[in-house]
Amino acid sequence: MATAGKVIKCKAAVAWEAGKPLSIEEVEVAPPQAMEVRVKILFTSLCHTDVYFWEAKGQTPVFPRIFGHEAGGIIESVGEGVTDVAPGDHVLPVFTGECKECAHCRSAESNMCDLLRINTDRGVMIGDGKSRFSINGKPIYHFVGTSTFSEYTVMHVGCVAKINPEAPLDKVCVLSCGISTGLGASINVAKPPKGSTVAIFGLGAVGLAAAEGARIAGASRIIGVDLNPSRFEEARKFGCTEFLNPKDHKKPVQEVLAEMTNGGVDRSVECTGNINAMIQAFECVHDGWGVAVLVGVPHKDAEFKTHPMNFLNERTLKGTFFGNFKPRTDLPNVVELYMKKELEVEKFITHSIPFAEINKAFDLMAKGEGIRCIIRMES
Ligand code: NAD
Ligand code: ZN
Repeated sequence: MATAGKVIKCKAAVAWEAGKPLSIEEVEVAPPQAMEVRVKILFTSLCHTDVYFWEAKGQTPVFPRIFGHEAGGIIESVGEGVTDVAPGDHVLPVFTGECKECAHCRSAESNMCDLLRINTDRGVMIGDGKSRFSINGKPIYHFVGTSTFSEYTVMHVGCVAKINPEAPLDKVCVLSCGISTGLGASINVAKPPKGSTVAIFGLGAVGLAAAEGARIAGASRIIGVDLNPSRFEEARKFGCTEFLNPKDHKKPVQEVLAEMTNGGVDRSVECTGNINAMIQAFECVHDGWGVAVLVGVPHKDAEFKTHPMNFLNERTLKGTFFGNFKPRTDLPNVVELYMKKELEVEKFITHSIPFAEINKAFDLMAKGEGIRCIIRMES
């Protein structure tokens, strides 16, 4: 490749300050160093996690920064020691990596890689503690090791999943975070038994994917809980059978759910990031067997408060990143589910915009409109 080993000048959407619209700038992207890859991003989309760290109201501010972690692209060049992928390979970036060597990567139960697990406060590469992005020599920081709001980005090789080159990147890019996370939270973590009742808190892309996962697992009642009633009609397509808007009730949601289900739901999956919803999701599960799974990213000072008796009464609380999928090992198989038409991703994609209009994706999410908005790097 003509560009290998050289600095690439390209467009990136830079967040200079918390909460200020991103601005499209020409950035310099350094070549990948040892165990790194440089990826040409073709499609990316906005996940609520990007918005929290861009707003930086409840999170550590790290600016200037290039956000973005849900995307699809093609390897442009690779650094020293990279043997798993080569230029031309189609990849999905993942915000949490898999080194394949640590105790977590060797354990069948964990995806919390010691080396590459999600770190939202780090803005530099693990290898040398530097950024690969700069403008006039001034570093621009990375986000969760992916920074996909750029035509080219540099990632650790352990944070890219090589996928079937036949898979359309404008569709499967949404599997790189939200959809896989929600799906895995249900299938891999909550594991609802056939015929069970599941409550899903938050009906954005992650929650709708969790509902879909519950349906695939064979749950018969799937109760969607959201403060935004405009989500409800859409949620039927994802397996939700009933809806509950906490604003419509004077009683706490956990009590309403207990009444609806003869004592509590069998499983719940929280996909809001709101601490109250997290507590409700735990307290609404049935005693004796109920399992609650937290997926939403909390405010940095949030504290989970519940009476210990809720645990003594044999309820289980769990949490997960990326739906417990191991990114490099499992994500290619999730893409295959789409290729075999066992998993539909089109219904999660409600908008598509050119890169120049990236701020529109932030507006849509703020208004709670649509599910996922695809951002096309090439217009
Ligand atoms: P989204 O904004 O599209 O959807 C969130 C939904 O939650 C909205 O419909 C909103 O109305 C609803 N909501 C907010 N507060 C609520 C409350 N108190 N009760 C009921 N509903 C409430 O967001 P998304 O992109 O689907 O992401 C959902 C969450 O998952 C975010 O917190 C995101 O950071 C997190 N996330 C976690 C992981 C992970 O690996 N753990 C991965 C991706 C996203
Ligand atoms: Zn995400």
